[in-house]
Amino acid sequence: MTENYDVVVIGSGPGGYVAAIRSAQLGLKTACVEKTPELGGTCLNVGCIPSKALLHSSELYWTLTHHGKTHGIEISEAHFNFEQMMARKKKIVSSFNEGIAGLFKKNKITRLTGTATLLNSTTVSISQGSASQEITARNIILATGSEPIALPFLPFDERKVLSSTGALSLQQPPQKLLVVGAGIIGVELGSVYARLGSKVTFVEFLDRICPTLDESLSKELQRLLQAQGMHFHLSSKVTAATLNERNLSLKVQMPDQSLQEMSADNVLVCIGRKPYTEGLGLNKVGIAVTERGFVKIDGTFRTNIPNIFAIGDIVDGPMLAHKASEEGIAAVEIICGHRPKIEYAAIPNVVYTHPEVASIGMTEAEAKAAGLSFTTGSFPFKANSRARCTGEEEGFVKMIAEVKTGIIIGIHIIGAHASELIAEGALAIQKRATIQEIASTPHAHPTLSEAVKEAALAVDKRAIHK
Ligand SMILES: Cc1cc2nc3c(=O)[nH]c(=O)nc-3n(C[C@H](O)[C@H](O)[C@H](O)COP(=O)(O)OP(=O)(O)OC[C@H]3O[C@@H](n4cnc5c(N)ncnc54)[C@H](O)[C@@H]3O)c2cc1C
Repeated sequence: MTENYDVVVIGSGPGGYVAAIRSAQLGLKTACVEKTPELGGTCLNVGCIPSKALLHSSELYWTLTHHGKTHGIEISEAHFNFEQMMARKKKIVSSFNEGIAGLFKKNKITRLTGTATLLNSTTVSISQGSASQEITARNIILATGSEPIALPFLPFDERKVLSSTGALSLQQPPQKLLVVGAGIIGVELGSVYARLGSKVTFVEFLDRICPTLDESLSKELQRLLQAQGMHFHLSSKVTAATLNERNLSLKVQMPDQSLQEMSADNVLVCIGRKPYTEGLGLNKVGIAVTERGFVKIDGTFRTNIPNIFAIGDIVDGPMLAHKASEEGIAAVEIICGHRPKIEYAAIPNVVYTHPEVASIGMTEAEAKAAGLSFTTGSFPFKANSRARCTGEEEGFVKMIAEVKTGIIIGIHIIGAHASELIAEGALAIQKRATIQEIASTPHAHPTLSEAVKEAALAVDKRAIHK
């Protein structure tokens, strides 16, 4: 007999598995279908988690070898064991794979392994090898995520030509790594290998790195990454490639239009990601997609078929794990008749380089383009006592507020632990807090968070330590 569910979630990334748990919490009979043997999607298996594990290990090595002496720590011969770094990363990932499986059990969610294909608006077939089964559902949530985009003349082989997935599973750090695309994923993975001794060169089509950031932060980040030995060719593009067993050579068009030949042991292509809907059967059921392949939804995550919802990387918007999870929760609550609201302006964006960059709300350029009357204030970490104690004095906090109301419309942080500091910014934007509200909130001393308070004071030109 065909099993019938209230909700079937397709995909177990941070969008899908969180939606499944919320659905079970709300008392709905729930199944989650995942085509790979492991739960957790891109984020857990080949994205956020493995990249942050390697970023941390490589940062520890860099800090000890480059800054140990100033702290009075002398290591005569420091070595890294790459195999151990990779093994540690793998162990962290598997522990969370098991963790999600445990949460599914605890919440009585049916876990189904195989590729899900929509047969009609309520029937899903699940196939694995030659075996297949059908289930039916009152509601279906599509959460099949995204995949890396390749250069048309340089397909991924994950040996020499790497996507982010291949770069997270190398056998050893390359001597020369060429990264195409200096966006967030590119600079994070480039940082891992630069810290481990690779000569890392970026080729970026646009005139600055991480172009979604406020310009002042993207310039400061480039300056600091250059100081760590990374090289950047901006306003440049890779136009052709020659690849054979021994040699990988790329033709790069430079800003003056001249062509330069660059060789590398590996090329890592990070030029963006696209929605992944292969095998899902969207055409068969007539689900509308945009020109760029994103599943079209309305303000309630409904596709053009009212009982089929879509969330996460397969719908337009920032490709972020926490955005996918928020949408998963909201979609299920809507199915249950609740009226949740996601404040998209309060979704933080983080670059986990050293120092980190974290931003929320509008950049200065966006506020200008929107015709807003705004004012800014900034505070440098070199004037923050905690940053001086830890020796992490690089960077600053920049705050943008409306002139008339003092309401904060953007917070941009470049500095150590920016990813943690931005949580205060998220709450501020979510609650439409004013500069005065942050400025008058006590912040513990000595902490990096005092720089956030000081940046708020700086908007009114009354920062204490500047
Ligand atoms: C290197 C890297 C680093 C990143 N770092 C961060 C970070 O630090 N912070 C952050 O917020 N975001 C980060 N991201 C982005 C983040 O991983 C994605 O935004 C997030 O995983 C999207 O979640 P999702 O649930 O929409 O899809 P996914 O996580 O992609 O999950 C989709 C799942 O659906 C499954 N699936 C697909 N088709 C089918 C089918 N037909 N049947 C069954 N299952 C199917 C897939 O196998 C997959 O498991 C990073 C991404 C990469 C690549």
